[in-house]
Amino acid sequence: MQAIQVNRARLKQAMETISAVGATPRGGLHRLALGDADKQARDLLCAWCTQAGYPVRVDRIGSMYARRAGRSEGDPPVLIGSHLDSQPMAGRFDGAVGVVAALEVMRTLDDHGIATHLPIDLVNWTNEEGARFQPPLLASGVFAGAHALEYALSRQDSAGLSVASELERIGYAGAHAAGFPISSYIELHIEQGVVLEQARATIGVVSGFVGIRDTRVSVLGENVHAGPLPMQLRRDALVGAAQMVLAAQEVGLAQSPDARVTVGRLSVPSDSHSIVPGRVDLVLDLRHPDAASLDALQAQLQERFAQIATRLGLSVQFEPYWNYAPIVFAPTLREHIRAAARMHGYPCLDLPSRAGHDALNIARVAPTAMIFIPCLKGISHNESEYASDEDIAAGADVLLAATLAAATQ
Ligand SMILES: [Zn+2]
Repeated sequence: MQAIQVNRARLKQAMETISAVGATPRGGLHRLALGDADKQARDLLCAWCTQAGYPVRVDRIGSMYARRAGRSEGDPPVLIGSHLDSQPMAGRFDGAVGVVAALEVMRTLDDHGIATHLPIDLVNWTNEEGARFQPPLLASGVFAGAHALEYALSRQDSAGLSVASELERIGYAGAHAAGFPISSYIELHIEQGVVLEQARATIGVVSGFVGIRDTRVSVLGENVHAGPLPMQLRRDALVGAAQMVLAAQEVGLAQSPDARVTVGRLSVPSDSHSIVPGRVDLVLDLRHPDAASLDALQAQLQERFAQIATRLGLSVQFEPYWNYAPIVFAPTLREHIRAAARMHGYPCLDLPSRAGHDALNIARVAPTAMIFIPCLKGISHNESEYASDEDIAAGADVLLAATLAAATQ
């Protein structure tokens, strides 16, 4: 592996140029999927890629691919990139870093006259954010077969405009099939958390995605008048639910830093100040990078909840709601990333992703990995989101080395 550095000045210039498209007065970005600013950013990327000699093709859900040819053109490419759309009034680094760095990787390979065995495709995924069109990760979901193309094209924004009509309007309703064989996918992204910053690490080797397990919990007691009945005789479901919330926090903290345990939704159907609540419904949200630990966490909490219910003369029911198994990224690609960081002398550590990215979908169909770089104070989806030029360049250096390793095999 060679310690080739990307061109810092060119990378910085490209980030500045693309950040001006949809820029907000406070240094952020407002570039909703398939809006006018997204079109401008796409046109800019298309011009850069075409000028550099990487032919651009667009698939039927509007994702853009720019190819740097390999010696073996018939083989599936290594795919690198991210997304150019943003949340409303958000930051300039979320997504764009991965796309601009991917272009810089291809340009740097050209500068050094390096040929790869496999072709390299840069990708800009349509509607990663899901801010204008639900759901998020839309185009990568189509690519990976999680969504039908027709479903994705029919999504509408709040004004009733569809993905299909907006793709047509901005000129990105492509003809290529959405989904094709790839040899691997590597995405560079800001962390959107504080793990790297706190550890003073420059590179995050993303181990995968945490699993999410949501359960609907119903706590059942008896609705009674708040006045006449002595308090000792009440079967107050809200008192039970309150103790369950505290137990959830205690169990989550005990399994820090890997576990996240949250009760973010709680309803009291009786909803009257003069009724002792006989029923409370809540959703228990569990997140953990390890599948067995997630099972154990769920079993432990359901047992604690049942004990609390029994003690208070209540009953408790559990109903599965969401269940996303943890995803473990490709060990070989993670090792390429780790080796690249070491070669460049960038402090690195392994961490799971706790936010959704297109890599979540692509990991279903191809060996996949992600590289994280720090973002200031973990602030993201916010105009003050910030990643330093040095860290972006370090991330691009690592993306280059990892891509080279994946593309020469
Ligand atoms: Zn993103």
